[in-house]
Amino acid sequence: MQRKKIVAGNWKMNTNLESARTLANNISKALEQNPTETVDVILAPPFPFLGTVAGVAEEKYAVAAQNMSQHEAGAYTGEISADMLQSLGVQYVILGHSERRAYYGETNELLAEKVQKAIESDLVPIYCIGESLEERKSNQYLAVIEQQLSVALFDLSEEDFGKVVIAYEPVWAIGTGETATPEQAQEVHAYIRKLIQEKYNETVAEATSLLYGGSCKPGNAKELFAQEDIDGGLIGGAALKAEDFTAIIHSF
Ligand code: PEP
Repeated sequence: MQRKKIVAGNWKMNTNLESARTLANNISKALEQNPTETVDVILAPPFPFLGTVAGVAEEKYAVAAQNMSQHEAGAYTGEISADMLQSLGVQYVILGHSERRAYYGETNELLAEKVQKAIESDLVPIYCIGESLEERKSNQYLAVIEQQLSVALFDLSEEDFGKVVIAYEPVWAIGTGETATPEQAQEVHAYIRKLIQEKYNETVAEATSLLYGGSCKPGNAKELFAQEDIDGGLIGGAALKAEDFTAIIHSF
């Protein structure tokens, strides 16, 4: 099975109602002028603007939330449920971004619950993994990746696992301007695919979309996306400029 090529833009805690609408409109217009048939485009604006951004999508892109509660509903002040996201037309949810792991204490165990809840609710999880600089320097990065994958994803049935998108985002490359080299990224992507093959099988491993994230820009996207096991990107900073984001989409 041919795996999907995906470029997703994580807007993080940026934009307001007006600038979110403008950015979504500009991306939409750019995709109208220069359409892509082979790449699934996803925009992940902040929660309050999900409905607005979904409203201007016209099937040119899908919409993702940046986080979600593991709970169904109830007394969880400030939390956002899968059902709320569904009702806004959201199709994907980013889970386990390194900023959520680092600043909000999200663990692999919690993320296993969130992934499960997303799948039950027909939202596609974009599950993020990646090592810190110390973990890379001390040569522990593959062990960290293995742990993040196995705890949060490897209890899923084969069918459910097939619904997950994985993003490898080395923490040292996020927002730092320092990108993993194509070889460094490919090494980890190939390792992730090998783990999936060992846990499930070759067919599942070949069908899983693996995105790279970490200072991906128009200038380096082509080389990264040319790697055998890199199926697209999760883009932070460069996703806030329609021109840069669409240039990345067209880097395949
Ligand atoms: C991200 O936060 O997912 C990300 C990849 O950020 P940046 O592209 O800015 O490094």
